Amino acid sequence: MTALRTGVVGVGHLGRFHAQKYARISQLQGVYDANAERARSVAQELGCRAYDDLQELLTTVDAISIVTPTLHHHAVARAAIALGVHCLVEKPFTFTLAEADDLLSQAIANGVVLAVGQIERAQVVMQHLREQGFPAPRYIEAERLAPFKPRSLDVDVIMDLMIHDLDLVLMLGASPLQEVRAVGVAAVTDQADMANAWVTLANGSVANLAASRVVREAVRRMRIFWPDRYASVDFMQNRLTFYRRGSGQVPGIPGVQEEVVDLQPSDALEAEISAFLAAVAGQGRVLCSGEEGRAALAAALAVRQSVGAFLSESNYPHSSGA
Ligand code: NAD
Repeated sequence: MTALRTGVVGVGHLGRFHAQKYARISQLQGVYDANAERARSVAQELGCRAYDDLQELLTTVDAISIVTPTLHHHAVARAAIALGVHCLVEKPFTFTLAEADDLLSQAIANGVVLAVGQIERAQVVMQHLREQGFPAPRYIEAERLAPFKPRSLDVDVIMDLMIHDLDLVLMLGASPLQEVRAVGVAAVTDQADMANAWVTLANGSVANLAASRVVREAVRRMRIFWPDRYASVDFMQNRLTFYRRGSGQVPGIPGVQEEVVDLQPSDALEAEISAFLAAVAGQGRVLCSGEEGRAALAAALAVRQSVGAFLSESNYPHSSGA
């Protein structure tokens, strides 16, 4: 248990879980939500104070999570950073790159830790892959498909779901984004609900990413290829399997060896928040820094721009001779 005093701003669906973790591993001072009734109910559940005034909460804490809709991340984070409060900002980091840049410079000026909630980095499969110290992958394929939910509809599927895989591609490739080509369609909302992106990094790594928020069955998978092996990741089952050329025998693929990695299940949100608090205490680094959160946002905005070009009227296929 750390002695750090913490708080959560925005305790809707995800913010309530943040508050539960802080209550377990730190001194949760209180929560603030634009919906006072919601703040009271979460505070009552966790035995902390519901603040009616954001500034008052900010003056009583060392560190907070910001779990409001993305549109409000910048304003809340700016107010917190100005008071020297360390911030874990949910993903997407901010709405615009200008807002992200502003927070990055304010965080440096005020000496605070700024982390971004790109939570897939905290999954045990990703932590294991990082620890192996593999070189940049040659190619990555990812599918992130989810049934429709009436949440996060203020953003498109790229900011909602694909940004997770864009962040992992940048993390595993450890190289800046070079080029993006993407397509997408609006199926239920008036923004892209499905998208497919072809992403190239400066070091030559390539990724093909599919995301949808309008399928019947959830899928969260990634396949990562190096010249001598490939890794199959199932985020939902917490399963990591390596395939290599070798003496083994995978049914139907002779000469290929399979290795299922035995991983203990762990709580990704608690791991993310623990790393943040450790960094605040000067005992480690955050799982996703402000700069890394900005890079994921920039990649998502590039995908969105490419999807926008695809969706624009001038690109709509016309039947010849009609
Ligand atoms: P939500 O709508 O359930 O909750 C948002 C809460 O913020 C609401 O209770 C609302 O009253 C409150 N709020 C709105 N404006 C506020 C303000 N200015 N100050 C304080 N409170 C305010 O949304 P959610 O699904 O919990 O998502 C919240 C954030 O978390 C979004 O940025 C979203 O992208 C992110 N998110 C991340 C993941 C992930 O996988 N890391 C998953 C879901 C959501």
